Amino acid sequence: MKVFISADLEGVAGSTTWIETEKNTPDYEPFQKQMTKEVEAAIEGAIAGGATEILLKDAHDSARNIDISNLPENVKIIRGWTGHPMCMVAGLDETFDRAIFIGYHSKGGSHRNPLAHTLTVTADVKINGEYVSEFLINTYAAAIHSVPVAFVSGDVGLTEEIKTVNENIVTYATKEGIGGATLSVSPKLAIKETKRLVEDSMKVEREILQVKLPEKFVVEIVYRDHTRAFRNSFYPGAKFKSHNTVEFETTEYFEVLRILQFLT
Ligand SMILES: [Zn+2]
Repeated sequence: MKVFISADLEGVAGSTTWIETEKNTPDYEPFQKQMTKEVEAAIEGAIAGGATEILLKDAHDSARNIDISNLPENVKIIRGWTGHPMCMVAGLDETFDRAIFIGYHSKGGSHRNPLAHTLTVTADVKINGEYVSEFLINTYAAAIHSVPVAFVSGDVGLTEEIKTVNENIVTYATKEGIGGATLSVSPKLAIKETKRLVEDSMKVEREILQVKLPEKFVVEIVYRDHTRAFRNSFYPGAKFKSHNTVEFETTEYFEVLRILQFLT
């Protein structure tokens, strides 16, 4: 069984402010370590659940966060950004059986995590009228290749959202956002539970995990800076929507990924 893991940092146990997510700051180090440990736990759980091959995508900021020195021999890792529109799930294709997202977080437009955002902090993203999370964007990206998402960890705002998308996806809530603060589980417990629940999630039937792609997509990118919205509205097929939004319609989800890659 081949498993794809995409890992972020804003949803790991404890991370609370932006400085803790930024490389080369002293505040970042404990959360880089926690991200590494939660990813290692997911790998252990996946292997215990039957995974024989794992591809790991470091998907936060520089995409060079995870300490890879202790990864098992059957794990390959993609560090850095390829520039491919698959972005946080670049490398995922139809040869995979399941995907796992670690350290994911609430969407831009949500108050459930002080680090909530979607792809960028300079705009929020809507699809078919609703604010969307990186979880949903990447779950749809995996669905292009018929790969279901089996397990996701992150803040409770996110895990509640996931249950409304597909209640069969196994989730683990690492923390709760309260205004500018977080209430987190013990980092040790997050590691233990991630391993246990990822193993369980490997046994959930693929068919009931699969999320269906909508038939059409109305994408709105809502910028903080209206001048960027006007400029980016010249993307082919896009239009400017007063006063700070670029709107784009398509039936092909890959075109959604393409516009997000270029305009966020
Ligand atoms: Zn991130």
